Amino acid sequence: MSRSEQLFSQAQQTIPGGVNSPVRAFNGVGGTPLFIERAEGARIYDVDGNSYIDYVGSWGPMILGHNHPAIHQAVVDAAAKGLSFGAPTASEIAMADLVCKLVPSMDQVRMVNSGTEATMSAIRLARGYTGRDKILKFEGCYHGHADSLLVKAGSGALTLGQPSSPGIPADFAQHTLTATYNDLASVEALFAAYPEDIACIIVEPVAGNMNCIPPLPGFLQGLRDICDKYQAVFIIDEVMTGFRVALGGAQAYYEVTPDLTCLGKVIGGGMPVGAFGGSKKIMDKLAPVGPVYQAGTLSGNPIAMAAGLAALNAIKDPAVHQHLNQITERLAQGLKQAAERQGIPLAVNQVGAMLGFFFTEAEQVTNFAQACACDSERFKRFFHLMLEEGIYLAPSAFEASFTSFAHSEADIDATLAAAERCFAKLK
Ligand code: PMP
Repeated sequence: MSRSEQLFSQAQQTIPGGVNSPVRAFNGVGGTPLFIERAEGARIYDVDGNSYIDYVGSWGPMILGHNHPAIHQAVVDAAAKGLSFGAPTASEIAMADLVCKLVPSMDQVRMVNSGTEATMSAIRLARGYTGRDKILKFEGCYHGHADSLLVKAGSGALTLGQPSSPGIPADFAQHTLTATYNDLASVEALFAAYPEDIACIIVEPVAGNMNCIPPLPGFLQGLRDICDKYQAVFIIDEVMTGFRVALGGAQAYYEVTPDLTCLGKVIGGGMPVGAFGGSKKIMDKLAPVGPVYQAGTLSGNPIAMAAGLAALNAIKDPAVHQHLNQITERLAQGLKQAAERQGIPLAVNQVGAMLGFFFTEAEQVTNFAQACACDSERFKRFFHLMLEEGIYLAPSAFEASFTSFAHSEADIDATLAAAERCFAKLK
């Protein structure tokens, strides 16, 4: 029995399913999850002494690579001054100023402790601002596990086959309308049916919780226009894409302006952080200035701010995104070519440092139904073959893969060589 197997069996005694977040349990691929001991740069090391090139990056935050020296030092320095004060600090201003500078659609930002809190709070704000109850999301998009948002959701909710979870009152879910990703007509139809009831559209600007599905040209701007027409709030959930597909997020990459933006993952440099913000007009409705309540004991925590600031300051260097784009593009093209050489039908999507591959005959995968139609059995086999090769992919066919600044050309070469050997074994 490996040490990971021992720990997994032990963990299941006192932790539901042995994990503190469902996808970690390898439900989507079968087998025993690796228990990780440490991570450095592009590599993670498990408790059995194996090392892997990591394309999960803690599900997104580790865009600079694991244990980045500047982030590590910032955390150590901040910890020396105390772990939490529950009172304002100068580091919160530095963070807010930097975020608003990097994401120009944000005049103001409120820090929270997770992506879930960011989207949940942004939706409450949109509802409070408009005085409307309904929200519109897209099938296969995941925005965290708040009640209103766990309807036809992606990520772990998909892997577990629970698009909507028990425990969510039907009275809540009825206010969540779902449209088809990349299909503006499905959005128009819902607004035509409820012209004065929809508070907001929330969208993943590049969907990363049904594998990786970029927006078709005009989709995001179309959503902006529909929100303007019906006076609804346009929320772009950049928890995954923020600072990743481009320094200014997907909204910079696709040149579209939301009313509210949700952030998470990268913004905390690996600490538990989220944020939401947008135009001052809307943010003024938030307590203590306005009536919409939102709060957090540990929000703006000094250690988290130190880590996040160090991360964002390092990512500002244009060399970071240049390298990320270059290696991720090479990985995407290389995977496609290796699969072709081995006669394995594969579609690959890539935007910035986000990548997805689909075992499908389809030329392009643009929505949830297509993502579901892919060969998930083949993905499972590929995942385990790659793991044996020392490549750690997300353990689910419904998650995007992430590269980091620490991934070298040699890491990409090694990954492509491994992938080609694995494709050959799939035949
Ligand atoms: N929004 C998106 C787009 C996400 O990808 C995620 C998490 N994967 C969330 C929200 C929720 O973030 P968290 O897990 O930090 O609550």
